[in-house]
Formats: sequence, structure tokens, C-alpha cells
Amino acid sequence: MSPSYPTSAFIGGRWIPGEITFPVINPATGDIVGRVADLTPDDVRDAIDSAAAALPAWSARTAYDRAAILHRWGALILADQEPLARLMTAEQGKPLAEARGEVAFGVSFLDWFAEEAKRAYGDVIPPTMASKRYLTLRQAAGVAAAITPWNFPIAMLARKAGAALAAGCTLVVKPAEETPLCALALAKLAEAAGVPPGVFNVVTTSDPQGAGLALCESPTVRVLSFTGSTEVGKLLYRQCAGTVKRLALELGGNAPVLVFDDADLDQAVEGVIAAKFRNAGQTCVCANRIFVQAGIHESFTRRLAERTAALAVGVGDKDGVAVGPLINAEAIAKVERLVSDAVASGARALTGGSRHARGGLFYAPTVLTGVTQAMEIFQAEIFGPVAALIQFETEAEAIRMANAVAVGLAGYVFTRDIGRMFRVVEALDCGIVAVNDGLPSVAAAPFGGMKESGLGREGGHQGLEEYLDTKYVCIGAA
Ligand code: NAP
Repeated sequence: MSPSYPTSAFIGGRWIPGEITFPVINPATGDIVGRVADLTPDDVRDAIDSAAAALPAWSARTAYDRAAILHRWGALILADQEPLARLMTAEQGKPLAEARGEVAFGVSFLDWFAEEAKRAYGDVIPPTMASKRYLTLRQAAGVAAAITPWNFPIAMLARKAGAALAAGCTLVVKPAEETPLCALALAKLAEAAGVPPGVFNVVTTSDPQGAGLALCESPTVRVLSFTGSTEVGKLLYRQCAGTVKRLALELGGNAPVLVFDDADLDQAVEGVIAAKFRNAGQTCVCANRIFVQAGIHESFTRRLAERTAALAVGVGDKDGVAVGPLINAEAIAKVERLVSDAVASGARALTGGSRHARGGLFYAPTVLTGVTQAMEIFQAEIFGPVAALIQFETEAEAIRMANAVAVGLAGYVFTRDIGRMFRVVEALDCGIVAVNDGLPSVAAAPFGGMKESGLGREGGHQGLEEYLDTKYVCIGAA
């Protein structure tokens, strides 16, 4: 890890070493990457107070002022792209090329929202009475809180911080326990960019329940933006009821991929490789269930298995590595259980199917055929490098199976038939649909799910809405 990045938490512009610390482990090697401050719920309440104290001045600045600071922050992050990527690979495990890409992706949110806030227009509404005038103002919603996951330690944080700060909110971030170092590195660069004290706070802790309760129960926090599992999202939803907080929930997915007979096979195989094996299969939009039409099932499966078997598995900072380790022992045990349950129920591993020969937290990239709706792997979010293939005959059958889960984040369709494309896009219960493409996420487009995948959207012009209140003003006696 770069010695110049902090390990203390960041509250009100002060670096807080904490009375105790917790270790951050490199999942590829088991080495300790660093030790960070282990804060208490009282510290979280201090951070909320700091954010509240900073709110009036920050929200009163013009969107242009805030944008200048956000752009400066983004430029400093980009200038540190290489050390930040190495830090991310060390604490998270993803290959360096992906980590570099994530740093740039994170910056794209700061830049996008910096500009978008300049267009947070209100309305002038034609009056219903000659003596009155009506208008609306868009104002910062107040103090916001963000709870972020380990799979994209910089991008998920920047996606929330960019929108919140651009809108004029101040923010308290609780990063994931596995990846707090990237969040603290961003705090250091925020300070250097001139983000005022208290506007951006990072509280690191090994007590997510205590920190979560402090954020949810605080009447000062008006917005909670969470990215993580559906299970924790539901808990936070309940905990926020008492203060009627606004919630943005980016939760789990179980992405279907529909590959039709008329698809361009090369494009479909490469699309599935990208959508499945990025970050070792640990993304919320990862292909989870791959439905392949009968006419191409054999050729598609063979090609996918060949490509999958050729993926280099290893420590992320080594050249050519495409698949790194899983995040922790629990994650690899879950993948192992899902695969052995599927194989015991009749699925077949064409490649992989077990832990990788390297040992540790490495799982072999796997292609499973003969998966059925009755298997747990069909219903669960795999979050590992396992492609689960299901054969289908008709379009209607594929759509029915694709929608037969409780979540609906991303979906993928491979077809060259334009009529089918529109039918399938419209029929899928997914907040994001990629057609003939494996990587749909960009700052300019709204990202979010249907059903139990969550509430609200991040990115796009919609992403700013989560942090703005609309105030209606009625003016009489005109
Ligand atoms: P997670 O266990 O839900 O953790 C996410 C965050 O919530 C972490 O910061 C975690 O802290 C915190 N947390 C855990 N228990 C909490 C509690 N009781 N109260 C408050 N906070 C709590 O999820 P994960 O395993 O890190 O991430 C994987 C999940 O995130 C997957 O389901 C994935 O699909 C989803 N995800 C969704 C999106 C999206 O945009 N829709 C993007 C990325 C990931 P600790 O680290 O201390 O446990």
C-alpha cells in the first residue's frame, strides 16, 4: 500500500486515529494491508453533527462553486490513478487493469454530477388564479449518509458523493470493512481539493450494525443511500421508518442473459465473459443465469467453456491476470456450496467446478450446463466466477424464467432481430437492459433495479434527484 494514504477516519476535517483499529486483509495473499480506525456509534454521531454544521455554508454556495471543487477532486484522484488502483487491488483483489478502470469510472461520477447540478431547474407554473404565481425550487435535501460495499470501493462511493455534494448536501460515508483504505484515500484527496471540513466524512468501523443504527435513527440525516445486499437493504429500510428518511437502495441482482439462436455468437460469448467474470463474478450486474436457445446451445456452450478455461487466475497485480480471488472465506464457501448442490442435482461442470489449484480464496472459472429452476444457484446471487447455463426453446419460455426471481437489476439480451429485441427489453423485469453488450454502466445513464433490487437511481440526471427536495412556492396578490 502507498504509505501516503491515511488509515485514520475523517470527521469534520480532522483525522481520527480511533482508540482501537481493525486489520484490512489482502484476499489474494492473506497479508495485512493496513490497520484502520475502528470507530464507535458515538463517533458516527459526531460525524453527523459535523456534516450538519457544514451544511448551511455548503448548500448556500452556487452549483458552479461546488462543481469547481468536485472537478478538482476528480482531477486529483485521476492523478493518483496508479497508486489508488494498486491500493484497491491490494485490499479488494480485482485485477489491476479493472482497478485502474474503476478509478476512472469513479471520477466520471464526480464530473458528471458537478455539471448536472448546474441544471437542477425549478419550474414556473401557469397559475390557476390571476392573482397568484406558483413556482418550485430545488434545494439540497440536507445531511446525507452513504453505506457502501467492498466490490467497487471507489466507484460506489464516488457515485454517491458526487451526487450528494453537487446537490449541496453534506455526507457521512461508512465504507465496507474489507475496503476502507480506498475510502480514506478519497477523503485525503477531497481535503486536498478544498472540500470544506464536515462536507465529506468517512467513518470506518468493524461495527456495521451500530454505525447503521446511528445513521438510520438520526433525525438529522435526511437521505440514506445504501449499496449492498438485499438482506441488509431491507433491514435499513425498516430502521429508517422512524425518521421517514429518504432511501436510495442499490441492492442485489440475479441478472438473466438471453442468448437467442440469431445472436452473433462471437459477440455473445465475449459479452458473457465480460458480464460474468469481471471482478471474479462479484458485481451486482454480473450475469447470473445464462439462458441459451436450443439451436446454438452446443456451439455457444463449447466456445464459452474454451474462453472460460483460458482465463488467467491469480494475484491481481500480476500482468495478464483476468480473475482474482473472492473477497473472503464466507464468499468462496457459498460459491462452493451452490456449485456442488447444482452438480448433485444434475448440472455438469464443463470447466472448473471447484476451488482453483492455487488454493486460498481462488475459485476456478466455471461453466455449468443443465441448470434448472429448482436449483438454489438459479435463485441465489452467485457472486463468484460461475456461469450457470439453462437451455430454452421459445422466447416466451426464456422471458418467463428470466423474470421468475424476486430481484431485477440488470438483464442482457443477445439477438439481431430488432422486433425480438424490443419485445424482450420491454418484458424483462430489470432496471437495466443491455442489448448485444456486456458492460452497460456509465455515469450518464440511470442505474438501479426493479422489484427487490432496490429503490431510486444513481447516475444520469435521475441520480441527483435523490439528494434534492422540491419546494413549491405560492405567491399571492400579484
Ligand atoms: P452487505 O453485506 O450488504 O454490505 C454492504 C455494506 O453494508 C457494507 O458497508 C457493510 O458493512 C454494511 N452493513 C452490513 N450489515 C449492516 C447493518 N446491519 N447495518 C448497516 N450496514 C451494514 O453487501 P456486500 O456483501 O458488501 O456487497 C455485495 C452486495 O451488494 C451484493 O448483493 C451486490 O449485488 C450488492 N451490490 C449492489 C449494487 C447496486 O448498485 N445495485 C452495486 C454493488 C453491489 P461491513 O462491511 O462492515 O459488513
